[in-house]
Amino acid sequence: MTDHKGKLIIVAGPSGAGKGTVENAVMEIFPEIQFSVSVTTRPRRDYEIEGKHYFFISKAEFLERIANDELVEWQEVYSKNGHLYGTLRSYIDSALEQGKQLLLDIDIKGGINVKKAYPENSVSIFIEPPSLEALEKRLIHRNTDSPDQIKIRLERMPEEMRLGQEFDYQIVNSTLEDAVDTFAEILKKDVYHQ
Ligand code: 5GP
Repeated sequence: MTDHKGKLIIVAGPSGAGKGTVENAVMEIFPEIQFSVSVTTRPRRDYEIEGKHYFFISKAEFLERIANDELVEWQEVYSKNGHLYGTLRSYIDSALEQGKQLLLDIDIKGGINVKKAYPENSVSIFIEPPSLEALEKRLIHRNTDSPDQIKIRLERMPEEMRLGQEFDYQIVNSTLEDAVDTFAEILKKDVYHQ
């Protein structure tokens, strides 16, 4: 895998750190970057399109794919009702062979595992909230988690921040503009060699 031109841009971070917003802004600046499509057992949401947001598969099919060694990595994502999410080896290999830049929005452990599998073709970026207090405010503000879920997310933070140090870069998402600027600089240097 070492001599392909393509690159995997691995992005992870604690839930509520604002990683989706940063990713969308970055993909507007670099329109050639493609979103990597994972497999999941989570049910499709109304606005989601098969093959664009995810490949939606049954748990049986997911387990079969694990058994056939078709996944680079997979995780049971606890904050998503224990649904399974995984990165397809064939999808990644074919993108890299075609010289594509792929952005992987992935959970923290999954990100570390993809980096291990494709060390030469990866740049990994961890998006951090500015503080525990800021994260708490964002989680309360976005109103998608119950107080119990927020408590669990906050308790998980120290461990997640520790794992975040295994990423090549850590970006503190204090303001969207600064976070996107920093992200773009990293890509110019490590992906586009400008
Ligand atoms: P959802 O799309 O269900 O709202 O969120 C999915 C969560 O699973 C996010 O944290 C996302 O980063 C993570 N995720 C998405 N695809 C993959 C994957 O292929 N592997 C792993 N390990 N996590 C994933």
